[in-house]
Amino acid sequence: MKRSQMFTKTLRDAPADEVARNAVLLIRAGFISKQMAGAYAYLPLGKRVLDNIVQIIREEMDAVGGQELLMTTLQSRDIWEKTNRWDDAVVDNWFKTKLKNGTELGVGLTHEEPIVDMLRLYVDSYKDLPLYVYQIASKFRNELRAKSGLLRGREFMMKDMYSFARTQSEHDELYEKAADAYTRVYDRLGIGDRTYRTAADGGYFTERFSDEYQTLSKVGEDTIYVDKTKKLAINKEIYTDENLAKLGLVKEDLVEEHAIEVGNIFPLESKYSDALDLYYTDENGKKQSVIMGCYGIGVSRLVGVLAELFADDKGLVWPKAVAPAQVYLINIGNDENVVKNTTELYEKLKAKNIEVVWDDRDARPGEKFADADLMGIPYRVVLSEKLGSDTVELKSRTAENAELLLPEQLIKKITTNA
Ligand code: ATP
Ligand code: MG
Repeated sequence: MKRSQMFTKTLRDAPADEVARNAVLLIRAGFISKQMAGAYAYLPLGKRVLDNIVQIIREEMDAVGGQELLMTTLQSRDIWEKTNRWDDAVVDNWFKTKLKNGTELGVGLTHEEPIVDMLRLYVDSYKDLPLYVYQIASKFRNELRAKSGLLRGREFMMKDMYSFARTQSEHDELYEKAADAYTRVYDRLGIGDRTYRTAADGGYFTERFSDEYQTLSKVGEDTIYVDKTKKLAINKEIYTDENLAKLGLVKEDLVEEHAIEVGNIFPLESKYSDALDLYYTDENGKKQSVIMGCYGIGVSRLVGVLAELFADDKGLVWPKAVAPAQVYLINIGNDENVVKNTTELYEKLKAKNIEVVWDDRDARPGEKFADADLMGIPYRVVLSEKLGSDTVELKSRTAENAELLLPEQLIKKITTNA
């Protein structure tokens, strides 16, 4: 990518209508663009970050046997009536729309109902189970407040997985396997150390807890009590002596923290499968309930969480695993040799599959440095007349000082560190 060809621009000042730090930084750096409150477009750099997060999640869901599919956004009213979730008095954040003939449709806010309804076509024997299916797609929710940038959108990206098991113990296995996959996702995103599996309300139809994945942050809407040694937490909403005892947590070991829910997993028992008539026949020809679980990850919320957590007074600081590019390449001045050497290095990096943004604009060095920092690209590489033709300057986004290297050393360093 060459800056001279990118249509996006960085902004010096914060947009007047944003209060959330994640949105301010992402807009200023040219990663997202606000369409209205709670709805953001992803610009090329932001789209890359989103895609990198999606890819990590996809790999981990595939690794446990998840089968990816893509459901429709438009949903029919009758399946939601079967589970009693159509009524606005029951689910208060629906977006709904109508066909020309007046038939009401739902705009997908989650997909338990349509997925269960669809699986009736494919699941009928014990041989068809167990099963995980998942998708990564936009969800629509008429949230009351949407002032937290990507943390709470009215249109946002979610990974939602659903598990279908024959018995409670088979369900428990799937549930824990998915929980382990979640841990790996958050580790790979660089937030594993501050993300806690947190016991929370399981809903009115189950005695069990649900599990939220909560990332510590002072801007978090949730309050949780954390046991840092056990790496477990409990949501304030269910913080009672009885629940602490059930979880084996001790009051004295817990600290109160604010956190952002980056994902959650729910035991659904057979609430949705029974209601929508999804059953299987066991080895003895007997009709049995299907035990379900659902597993959400806030994909676009994670873009916001990473922007919120990994930033300093100069701008964003992306973890390498999700950064839109690894190198921000800068030529200082337009000296013929410098431009030639920079072009060569740009091509070499690309040939090694290292993603580069080359700031080839005719701009002041200070402007280029400021953009490199604002965009939060892990490595900044500078070529200039002063450095001479054999030397490049490398500075990591998080380091105080730069170092001088030969171009070959630079490539080696980046490929081995990336
Ligand atoms: P919250 O309590 O934050 O509203 P939720 O309980 O409604 O979340 P789910 O419906 O289970 O969450 O959605 C799964 C995941 O999707 C959540 O853990 C969260 O990370 C993310 N998410 C939920 N609502 C939003 C939203 N409005 N904008 C962005 N991400 C969201
Ligand atoms: Mg919600």
